[in-house]
Amino acid sequence: MPGPDESGPYRPLASPSRPLSTEVRTGIAASPGIAVVRAFVLDRRRLKTPKRHIPAAEVASEHMRLDEAVVRTNDQLERLKHKLKQSEDSDSILEAHQLILHDEHLIGETRRKIRDELINAEWALRRTVEEIQQRFDAIDIEYFRERKSDVEFVGEQVLRNLLGNDTTGMQPPYGAIVVAHDLSPADAVHLHRNSVSALVTDAGGRTSHTSILAQAFAIPAVVGLDNITDAVGTGDLLIVDGSRGEVILCPRPDQVEAYREKARTQHHRIEVLLRERNEPAETRDHVRVRLLANVELADEVPLALDYGAEGIGLYRTEFLFLDREDFPREEEHLMHARGVLRRVAPFPATFRTFDLGVDKVAPFLSKLSGHITGEEPNPALGLRSLRLCLRERAFFKSQIRGLLRAAIHGRMRLMFPMVSGVAELREAKAVVEECKAELSREGMQYAEDVPIGIMIEMPSAVLVADHLAKEADFFSIGTNDLIQYALALDRLNEHVGYLYQPLHPAVLRMIKMTVEAGHSAGRRVAICGEMAGDPLHTLVLLGMGVDDLSMNAASLPLVKRVLRRATLLDATKLAEHVLTLPSAEAVEATVREAMREALSDLAELGQPERPS
Ligand code: PEP
Ligand code: MG
Repeated sequence: MPGPDESGPYRPLASPSRPLSTEVRTGIAASPGIAVVRAFVLDRRRLKTPKRHIPAAEVASEHMRLDEAVVRTNDQLERLKHKLKQSEDSDSILEAHQLILHDEHLIGETRRKIRDELINAEWALRRTVEEIQQRFDAIDIEYFRERKSDVEFVGEQVLRNLLGNDTTGMQPPYGAIVVAHDLSPADAVHLHRNSVSALVTDAGGRTSHTSILAQAFAIPAVVGLDNITDAVGTGDLLIVDGSRGEVILCPRPDQVEAYREKARTQHHRIEVLLRERNEPAETRDHVRVRLLANVELADEVPLALDYGAEGIGLYRTEFLFLDREDFPREEEHLMHARGVLRRVAPFPATFRTFDLGVDKVAPFLSKLSGHITGEEPNPALGLRSLRLCLRERAFFKSQIRGLLRAAIHGRMRLMFPMVSGVAELREAKAVVEECKAELSREGMQYAEDVPIGIMIEMPSAVLVADHLAKEADFFSIGTNDLIQYALALDRLNEHVGYLYQPLHPAVLRMIKMTVEAGHSAGRRVAICGEMAGDPLHTLVLLGMGVDDLSMNAASLPLVKRVLRRATLLDATKLAEHVLTLPSAEAVEATVREAMREALSDLAELGQPERPS
């Protein structure tokens, strides 16, 4: 397999699945930055299919591998037939499988693809199976539909034999660009630890948790590319521009050089931006806004502080445990939170209690009685987040007890996600009180006075924010989910990504209502959704009176730069005006006009704007 190095030779091979000339694919800009490296394709949909373009000299050996895998599959079917001899039914099914296995349409066609399209045996087989299935799809006769799954079964068996037991090839090499249909947040954590250079996926949206993690780890990412996995093979050289949401396939040598230069320039400009990291986040008319970081793992804390964060506005506690089979224990919560508080000191850290579910599904969840992983028809509206925790008290209490015990080591704030209204908030607060009483009885040390805030991320919470403000110590608006629920669009679904509009008048009005309700009760109001980290939104949020902005670390210097050149007076006028406008498009045009100077300042610094 060709290495992932930048300098290795690359030569376009003739293949209908890959463009012969340069092609630019545009998806969703999920995390900024540039990578010019070779790709590693991870196929997670079924069996992972290694995909590789091969030189003509390898055709014969790929044919031989395929033939051997067919022989092995046939032997396995034969053995199975002997084992199941008693049953006539199974006999005829296995016979049918053997017939399929030797059918020209399957194996002959796979051999042809290897030879003519110069791709490895696994990839050729996968594509042949898919083509046969598509042909069966077109026939509306049940018999053929059944044969479709037989073809799939046989294809998978041959694929397994081609792969053998060797799965080492499925680990991306150091520094590769990972191309996949979809990635889970747990994959992203794992890939970060393996130092991948960029992530590129067919599925996903800008606020899916994989995108959020890519930003946190400063890995360039483009998502929502539809079918990029069909066009890229392992070892292909790619250019990924995470700021523009572009992937260049089969790049020309002059593009490769130009993008490498661009990457160097971006690096230099980040250094310029960071010169202001120790300056206060204050407008020209001396209004302070607190800039905080969103953090998923403790490893991110030093970077966040380096980028000028004045604390953690959102610690997503669930990420640490996403690959865990067993339940996180109280002692683990204690030790982990204590470590984070010490690293962030003297600043505060806001620990959000478990927000599990939807795309954040840990293996241990399947052991919870109330949670039927993967079986809910609408997981985003299902038993997730705080609802799940309130149902599973023992599980929830071990986290709360661990956090309360850790709180004596720093400035902790507790925050509940997905609060729908006052009753849920009271119930969650009662659990905290119960934990405190237990800890007292047990003679354990814990902090008595931890502020308890809530995320405002459902329209219902916005509408009763005046009531909630009387019982919560602070608000943090989670715009990622608020936009999802207000505009009825799945934040993970790339097909409706175009509807994700933070500047939609409905969203702006909800933010304004929340700020007013919070301030009337003397509460600070933060934004911790991705909206807070986009400099295009900074003035409007400032003008609406938001007190704290919490975002991924890489955005902090950009937002600070905009703030330090703005005045509250101008921002207030802008916010008042845009709140009267009828559409997201009208708001955006007005904001861009008002921020022309600020945006061109950022552009001069080499911070490309997100395509709108
Ligand atoms: C949000 O919904 O805006 C938020 C910050 O929480 P998460 O992205 O973790 O759902
Ligand atoms: Mg949320």
